Formats: sequence, C-alpha cells, structure tokens
Amino acid sequence: MSGSSHAAAYLETGALPELPDRHFIAGEWTTPAAGGRMETFDAGFGRAFHSVAAGTAEDVDRAVMAAHAAQNGWGRTKASARGAALMRAATLLREEAARFAFVEALDSGKPLQEAEGDVAGAARAFEYYAGAADKIEGETFPIGDDYLGYSRPEPVGVTAHIIPWNYPLSTAARGLAPALAAGCTVVAKPAETTPLTMLMLADLLTRAGLPAGVVNVVTGTGPEAGAPLVGHPKVRHVTFTGSVPTGQGVMQAAARNVASVVLELGGKSPLIVLTDADLDAAADGVVGAIYENAGQICSAGSRLIVERPVHDALLERVLARVHALKMGHGLRRSTLGPLNSAPHRAGVAQRVDEAIARGLPPLTGGSATVDPETGEGWFFEATIFDDVPADDPLVTDEIFGPVLAVQIADGADDAAALANGTDYALVAGIYTADFGLAHRLARDIDAGQVFINEYFAGGIEVPFGGNRQSGFGREKGLAAVQNYLRIKSVAAKIG
Ligand code: NAD
Repeated sequence: MSGSSHAAAYLETGALPELPDRHFIAGEWTTPAAGGRMETFDAGFGRAFHSVAAGTAEDVDRAVMAAHAAQNGWGRTKASARGAALMRAATLLREEAARFAFVEALDSGKPLQEAEGDVAGAARAFEYYAGAADKIEGETFPIGDDYLGYSRPEPVGVTAHIIPWNYPLSTAARGLAPALAAGCTVVAKPAETTPLTMLMLADLLTRAGLPAGVVNVVTGTGPEAGAPLVGHPKVRHVTFTGSVPTGQGVMQAAARNVASVVLELGGKSPLIVLTDADLDAAADGVVGAIYENAGQICSAGSRLIVERPVHDALLERVLARVHALKMGHGLRRSTLGPLNSAPHRAGVAQRVDEAIARGLPPLTGGSATVDPETGEGWFFEATIFDDVPADDPLVTDEIFGPVLAVQIADGADDAAALANGTDYALVAGIYTADFGLAHRLARDIDAGQVFINEYFAGGIEVPFGGNRQSGFGREKGLAAVQNYLRIKSVAAKIG
C-alpha cells in the first residue's frame, strides 16, 4: 500500500496497519514490567488512536542491561559487517517508506509529504553512516624508532538517545546511525506523543541483521522512563534532543556517571533578507522556514530580519504565500498541519495572547483554530508580528509554533547585531546577491549552521548543532561519529 492509500483508508474508515504497542528489548517485543499504558494521539482530529507501553525504571534497566550484554559483540564486529547491516537498513527503510511515512504523519500530525521527506532523509542517514563504518581509522604517533605509538578508536559503549516529537524518525536516525557505525549499542526513548516510528525502526534494524540487544527502545514519559535512562550507570553517552530545561537536567544526570552528552536544544533562528536579495526566493525561504511542520522545528526561521528598503515588498510576497497555505489534516497533504498536542497548542496560544496584550497586534493570524474541513484538531493560524522590538519575548523566546517575528534592520551590520541578539545560536539564514557580504555575515553570526540563499540547504553530510543555549556537540556529518568513539593510545618499546 502506498502512503496515500494508507491515508485514504484511515481517513475513510479509521483503518490502521499493525502498530507496535510494547517496548523493544533484546530483539523482542516486551511487556512493561509495571503494566502501564499511555495513549498516542492523532493531532489532526484531536483524538487518541493507539496506546503503547508506559515504561518505568525496571524496563529501562532491562533495556540497558541488554545493550550492555550486546556491546562487546557489536563493538568487535568487523566494521564492514556493521556497515553492511546499516546499508540493509537503508534499503529496507526505502522499501517500507510508505508505512513509515503514514505512521509518522499520523503520530506527529505533520503533512504526509513532509513525513515522506523525513523517511527518505532517515534512509540517507543509514546509508551515509553505513559507508563511514569501515573508514574509522586510528593514527600512529612519531615517538622514535625504538617505539611504536598508535591509537585505537573504540566505541564508547552503551548510548542513550532521547528523542523529541517534532522529527521523531529523523532525529532517531541521525543519532542511531553514527552510534551503530562506531560500534555502540543503543537504548532509545522516544517522546511521549510520538513513540511509533522509533519502535518500528528498532524492529527494522533487527530485520536488517543487527543482533538482539544492539538496539532497544523503551517508551514512556520523561520523568518515568527518560530520567532513569540518562542516569543509568551503564550508559556511557547521552544524545539528547529537546528543550533547554530538560537538557540541563539530562546533563546533570549524566554528570553523576561522568558520561558524555551531546545537547541539541532550542532555537530562535534569524533569517536575514538584505536589500539586494531575490525577494521571491527569500519569501519562499521565509514561509518554508517558519511554517514547515507548523513551525515546530528547532531550527525554524522564527525571526525575519529584513532591511528597511525591502520590508514592504518582502512582506507583501510573504503574506501572499501565507494566505495560499492549505490548513488541514496532515494525511490530506495539507501545507499547514496541526500542532502536535493540545497542551503544546495552549502554550503557543498563550505566548501569542500575551504579545497581543503587550500591544503588539498580529499582522495576520494569531488564533487557535480547527481543520476547516472537519471542524476538529489542534490547529493554530499562520501568524506574523511585524516590527517587533529586539527585547520583546516574541524575539527572545522560542515559541515552537507557526509564529514569525519580523525585525527591521538598517544595514547589514545592524542585521548581524539583531541576529546575535538572543541567547540561542542554532542556525541562521542569509539572503543576498553579494557573495562577499554573505560570507562576512556567515563569519560574524553566532550559529552552528548558516544557510545562504536557501534556508535548510544541506543534508546528512553537513554537521548540525548549536552554540550557547542551543546546546553543544554536533550531529550529522563525519563529526557525529566522534561522539561515539573514545581514543585509546598505545605506546610500546619495540627496540
Ligand atoms: P522536551 O525537552 O520536553 O522533551 C524531549 C525529550 O526528553 C522527550 O522524549 C521527553 O520525554 C524527554 N524527557 C523529558 N524529561 C526528561 C528527563 N527528566 N530525563 C530524560 N528525558 C526526559 O522537548 P519537546 O517539547 O519534546 O521538544 C521540543 C524542544 O526540542 C524544542 O525546544 C526544540 O527546539 C527542541 N529540539 C531541538 C532540536 C535540535 O536538533 N537542536 C531538534 C528538535 C527539537
């Protein structure tokens, strides 16, 4: 069945393919020790459609011990064999892409075509790191003819992966694939509201040839399942993607075991449009940057910084595109889907209401709403606030919804200063025809990744991560493999 046929069957009759509902531990579907269950929701209709295991510390311990037991075997598996298994996973994911995309769109609420892109990206991640597995090399050290000095890059051991709900499969793939390529085992904890594709991925990886225990998944809440995982003494590294406060707690928990962490946290990323930019391309970029996945993207371009002379012309183009967005259930291939949960939508609405109460009227949007076709779901209008002061919370605080704050700049230096004006530093976009200026701004803006003339340009090959409150460490690219390695140096007297 194609993704569209799954979607049509579900929308017409509620029919669902077989969905996982237990933990995946030591290669088997495993019932939660305490028997707890939690519901997962279809945000487009605003109703529960399935339930999964609500894990506890006991389940986490079983999963970590399964990973620990599998670590030596997987870590010592020939690198090319690890790569071959990851390549089979990429192939299987492409073969099963329709089912994965359907479930991802249903569980997260995102439009089906975006979920299809996520699945294709996840397959690329496994393919990319499959190729990297047998290119992890050590070095020799020049310590004299009578000595031999060399390094052995070794897997760090059991790794924990805490996944957010906005890009469940993509985030899982970009963390798991390099960890597995490096020879690490994995215990993953998906977000409460989007557990399904992580479970499906663990099953797929096992079918691709990963031995039992190499990849384990425990579903459940952050406090009940996430906290015991990141604080487990056998976990040697934590890759965390989520909010700043949770990330701070994760870092403290890992510190108790002196485990390493990569923190991929929030953002308030600027998209700069200078006077000489191609305004149609820039307007396309602005709308994609803030309304894709209904703005629930860590690297969303949630601040538009536009040079004053082109402000009106750009905003006219942006508004025309915003009014053409098609709000609706993600499975109907809308271009503006629902927010992921009712509490999250309430949080977005609260921030917008507070801005209005501060005397900032939205240029467009500003309200929670429903799917115009069904009258249901957790939707929020595409919203723009114009000419927002640099110290307003609309500029400084992450909202994680379809809400754009426009800032007006007087010249490129002012644009750079505004861009650097928040505590976040994840990504930045620059639209200009001036090649030299673009690269000077790329130098001067504090961000982990800079996009020039195409927001979200790049792929798995390009390292990604933040500075300051956006976190530290890099995922994607060959840089990510280093997160999962520790160097052992060997020095021997041979003469
Ligand atoms: P969140 O921090 O609430 O939750 C993220 C994950 O952490 C979930 O799986 C949750 O169950 C788990 N968790 C919660 N408490 C925990 C604890 N005490 N110990 C261990 N795990 C715990 O974030 P969210 O609302 O799911 O995601 C949105 C946030 O994530 C936004 O701030 C967004 O910017 C950020 N994000 C960042 C990136 C990036 O790559 N930088 C990508 C996606 C999302």
